[in-house]
Amino acid sequence: MFIEPRVGTSRDTPRRGWIEVVCGSMFSGKTEELIRRLNRAKIARQRVEIFKPALDTRYHDHNVVSHNANSIRSTPVPIAQEMLLLAGACDVVGVDEAQFFDESLVEVCTQLANRGTRVIVAGLDMDFMGKPFGPMPTLMAIAEFVTKVHAVCVCCGELATYSFRIAASDDKILLGETDSYEARCRACFLEGMKEKTTEPTVTAAKH
Ligand SMILES: [Zn+2]
Repeated sequence: MFIEPRVGTSRDTPRRGWIEVVCGSMFSGKTEELIRRLNRAKIARQRVEIFKPALDTRYHDHNVVSHNANSIRSTPVPIAQEMLLLAGACDVVGVDEAQFFDESLVEVCTQLANRGTRVIVAGLDMDFMGKPFGPMPTLMAIAEFVTKVHAVCVCCGELATYSFRIAASDDKILLGETDSYEARCRACFLEGMKEKTTEPTVTAAKH
């Protein structure tokens, strides 16, 4: 597990910014890890602000809510650029569900870090097809610190890095995750994808 290089900024050191990425599949504890880091920054009397894309309305509108209900207040923003205005005097900026922002999030995080803000970005590294998700791969490349957290494969109990979609939909953004996805390891993900392509369509088989 990544240990912060520094939680606060002591008075005699100049304020420095950097980027941390916490990534992984569904059910890997990304948001829990984001919240853990932000809570520690709060204890160090840092000014903390959390943002998430406005489209993620699964739970409460103004909360980053993780699955264990350990939540922190957050501000939904329709576009990443809004963070530059809202993050004004923050020492630490958290971004949850970062994969749903467009590529402009990369520039926003860079600008925040360049002006001395610690930026912690949490998001899915891969979509349900196993492809890199939105701005995440670029963020992982430019970040000082990257932490990949793992879920547990529901099929075999190995470490899981894939979000396997159970629901029949090709939409890249499908909310309501607990009943639509399961965490799977590489082998079980491939197995599931193979079954999906060979299975006759359910509607056609009924008649
Ligand atoms: Zn497995």
